[in-house]
Amino acid sequence: MKECITRNPAETMALAARLARDLRPGDLITLAGELGAGKTCFVRGLAEGLGLNPGHVSSPTFVMVQEYTPETGFGVTLVHVDAYRISSEDDLASIGWEDLCEGNTIVALEWPERIASDLSDERIEIELEHIDDQTRRIVIHAREPGRVLALDTND
Ligand code: ADP
Ligand code: MG
Repeated sequence: MKECITRNPAETMALAARLARDLRPGDLITLAGELGAGKTCFVRGLAEGLGLNPGHVSSPTFVMVQEYTPETGFGVTLVHVDAYRISSEDDLASIGWEDLCEGNTIVALEWPERIASDLSDERIEIELEHIDDQTRRIVIHAREPGRVLALDTND
């Protein structure tokens, strides 16, 4: 468990990029926090840390699923899901949620509480809290038993 304070979007991206170095294909990262907390900003940092183009990351509220693939053919694919508008099992099936979770991609999920009952227990949970205009409190918690993140031990 790691708790951090970031003071601007660049710091949030840098924190996410550090986490990205610890990620493995198949990982699920959930991002909880109110609108504007910085969930999408965090995903942008994950993309950067994974060597993907952070400029491709936008808020997929209307799209629900976006995939960012490596430009060179090497490296991992990041799938970005926004569950804000998911309200039924049918919606979840329509985005191919089960296949996404069994695949070799890294999945970053905004609004995990919308699909709580369909979430694997083995995930990395991120909670973002709005402190003031530029300040966010970010808690990172690897729920997978035995999973240690470099972030947990370093500062
Ligand atoms: P969400 O996806 O949670 O709705 P976004 O990442 O889309 O949030 O937006 C976060 C907003 O907050 C952006 O406008 C960003 O510039 C602003 N912001 C200000 N300070 C921070 C910070 N420390 N970390 C992340 N975003 C910040
Ligand atoms: Mg968002």
